[in-house]
Formats: sequence, C-alpha cells, structure tokens
Amino acid sequence: MGTFKEAEARLFRNVYICRRCESKTRVPIGKVLAGGASCTKCKCKQLRPVRKKSK
Ligand SMILES: [Zn+2]
Repeated sequence: MGTFKEAEARLFRNVYICRRCESKTRVPIGKVLAGGASCTKCKCKQLRPVRKKSK
C-alpha cells in the first residue's frame, strides 16, 4: 500500500536522537550532515537517526 511507509518516513525523516541524553531533536538532514546540528538539551553534536527496528 505504501501509505504507512510514507507516513513513517515523514515522521522519522528529520528526527534524530541524541547519543548522550537520548532526547529527540528535529533537524533537517542537511544540517546534520554539515555538522551544524546539535541536541537542544545538552548541546552535544552526536546525533543518530531514529530508525530503530524494534518490534
Ligand atoms: Zn542531548
């Protein structure tokens, strides 16, 4: 059907999780790749995408 995947992509595309405090941050991917993205809570720049394949 595809609708679900699209919705998921929309939800998770620009969302990253801080590796330090694990808070979610919404950042455009271009900013992440450029290294200009940082966690809003602890200001650390170690972010990872949200794609968790947990059940
Ligand atoms: Zn953080």
